[in-house]
Amino acid sequence: MPELPEVEVTRRGLMPHVFGRHILHARDHGQALRYPYPDWRILQGRKILDIQRRAKYLLFCLEGDGRLVCHLGMTGQFRCLPSNEEVAQHEQVCLHLDDGWSLRYCDVRRFGYMAFISESAFSSHPWFSHLGPEPLSDAFTPSWLIRCCRGRRCSIKHLVMDTRIVVGVGNIYASEALFRSGIHPARKAGDVGSEALIRLHAALREVLAEAIRAGGSTIRDFRRSDGRPGYFSHAFRVYGREGEPCVECGGVIQRFKQDGRSSFFCPSCQT
Ligand SMILES: [Zn+2]
Repeated sequence: MPELPEVEVTRRGLMPHVFGRHILHARDHGQALRYPYPDWRILQGRKILDIQRRAKYLLFCLEGDGRLVCHLGMTGQFRCLPSNEEVAQHEQVCLHLDDGWSLRYCDVRRFGYMAFISESAFSSHPWFSHLGPEPLSDAFTPSWLIRCCRGRRCSIKHLVMDTRIVVGVGNIYASEALFRSGIHPARKAGDVGSEALIRLHAALREVLAEAIRAGGSTIRDFRRSDGRPGYFSHAFRVYGREGEPCVECGGVIQRFKQDGRSSFFCPSCQT
């Protein structure tokens, strides 16, 4: 599943190809995504002014009013192809642009979704109204994290994966950040001390920023390529490393089930 870094790398990769372009027309190929498609006529003739990201949503900001909002779901990806090129494999949506290229959305499992949301409806929209701060923004501070943990009985891993606390921290990056800050994933959030939370705050930003940098350097171009930045697995220190030696202490990385997901940790380094 694409996590925040993959979505951010997609955003950066697409920008040079769609910025300032007009959408000649948009269409889907009839296979439903997770939610009904927007009325594509609303995009016709509109200029793409920007691509922004909020949590794991890509926001295509259009001249006039409104944004085309896209969530990649489990397997969604964008690619840029010449407009006269035939429908790509697993292509669901095509936006024809005014430079002879088109933006194709391909999604094997079709858990992704798109909607057109006007500016006035955006902040109160149910997909966005309850979202916490962006992890890499100034709004996400150590004191915010400390305040959010106070008195909480849920695990610290559960808390940092709660989008009301901070957005875009999925299983992989939560595991990595907890390892780097020496906190056991099952610790009660309310029992984690301020110093450890300050380390966790820094580690969350660090792992996400590193993954974005790694992704940005591994993809060359969204034109022609499959548009899939992939996971930056070379950087993982605990995630997916059950039974392998800890990079810090040489102990054995362990795995357990937590909230239905796998948690990886080092029993010596994380307490
Ligand atoms: Zn260790």
